[in-house]
Amino acid sequence: MKDRQMKRMMNDIESEVHYTRRMIGKDALDPRVMDVMAKTPRNEFVPRNYMNAAFDNGPLPIGHGQTISQPYIVALMTDLLELEDDDIVLEIGTGSGYQTAILSQLCKQVYTIEYVPALADMARERLKRLGYSNIEAISGNGYDGWPEHAPFDAIIVTAAASHIPKPLIEQLKPGGRLVIPVGHPHSYQELVLVDKNEDGELDIRNVLGVAFVPLQAERDEYV
Ligand code: SAH
Repeated sequence: MKDRQMKRMMNDIESEVHYTRRMIGKDALDPRVMDVMAKTPRNEFVPRNYMNAAFDNGPLPIGHGQTISQPYIVALMTDLLELEDDDIVLEIGTGSGYQTAILSQLCKQVYTIEYVPALADMARERLKRLGYSNIEAISGNGYDGWPEHAPFDAIIVTAAASHIPKPLIEQLKPGGRLVIPVGHPHSYQELVLVDKNEDGELDIRNVLGVAFVPLQAERDEYV
């Protein structure tokens, strides 16, 4: 039963990638990302009362007014980061820990920050129970990044920001990539991909219209 649901979820992701191919500039995602999506049990990351929708290609509530992101968006954002095995990754907005689990299987170490302490605790315990060991999860304001572990090969923000936080750009390695939804917090945003080249210059590109919950407690440190 679960296998069949997972197969359906993977098919749904593939169709949506195909449907959005002109915007995202590709007709298929990295097979390594798709393999990890197919073997990560999303049902372990959703509340019991939404279990029957665990493999639907849509977001679901996880409490505290927050959501677990849509599988297609999780796959796309992961793909955009072009992770390599020895990469160190920073994630802002742990939420359920689902995106964290996906990232952790494609890099060396994930540092993840969640604003709501109860969600951070729940995600940390869940990820540990499921055996994902290369993850450090704390509660805090991700706007500031995590300077102690910087610089990062890749940074992913899974909450809607009004601008790209300067601390995150500063903590991105030359040659690194950052993906973040930018726009009005209570409506739609653009998924933005930032490439920092070896000279520290930024290439900023809009990828797709998305809808995320707001990034809390933003400061005014513009890039
Ligand atoms: N990747 C998560 C998405 C959760 S929704 C998942 O798929 O489960 C976005 C999360 O960002 C929420 O849990 C919210 O509490 C968190 N968040 C919002 N503002 C934040 C901030 N300033 N720092 C860290 N986390 C933040």
